[in-house]
Amino acid sequence: MNHPDRLPVVRSEYADANGNRCVYLTFDDGPNPYCTPDVLDVLAERKISATFFVIGAYAAEQPDLIERMIADGHEVANHTMTHPDLSRCEPAEVQSEIQGASEVIRAACPHALVRHVRAPYGRWTAEVLATAAKAGLSAVHWSVDPRDWSRPGADAIVNAVMASVRPGAIVLLHDGCPPSELAQQTRAGLREQTLAALSQLIPALQERDFALSPLPQLQ
Ligand SMILES: [Zn+2]
Repeated sequence: MNHPDRLPVVRSEYADANGNRCVYLTFDDGPNPYCTPDVLDVLAERKISATFFVIGAYAAEQPDLIERMIADGHEVANHTMTHPDLSRCEPAEVQSEIQGASEVIRAACPHALVRHVRAPYGRWTAEVLATAAKAGLSAVHWSVDPRDWSRPGADAIVNAVMASVRPGAIVLLHDGCPPSELAQQTRAGLREQTLAALSQLIPALQERDFALSPLPQLQ
């Protein structure tokens, strides 16, 4: 048996050691050529940095967007190569899904430091955690999920975040959609609500004295 101290943990919040009221915006399931540039534009306009958990297969098709994320000061993190439910994958597949995505990110942008991984659908297993740790990646979940992917309306997304946000919160948003859902989605308007919500969320969070930043490096 492993000593509990040595088990890798999945982090859902990131309290700031200096006592700052940090909130971390994270975007999953991109890069998407139709949605990600708009998200990047809103973040640039507001001078906000965030963390993008990208799907390796998309990153391979959109290396320019990975480069732009890094150039704009964002963190690019690992959301596996093809977005499978890792709890249903063989160990070798778990490994290639995680390693492959890190390699694609580094191929797109050689100075990218890939430090975090998020399991698709938030399905973590001991196997996934051990593989992530071996690849030098910290496991990151979320603490605030406004379910923007279900398109509940921009106001509902904003209200859900504002109702549960607190210092150290990790907010889950989406700038794309998984390959398994791509066929049912129309390209136009896919993440329009997320985008509209983001434009309201940033000033609302700042008004409550939250500082928005990419995820810090785990100690
Ligand atoms: Zn995802």
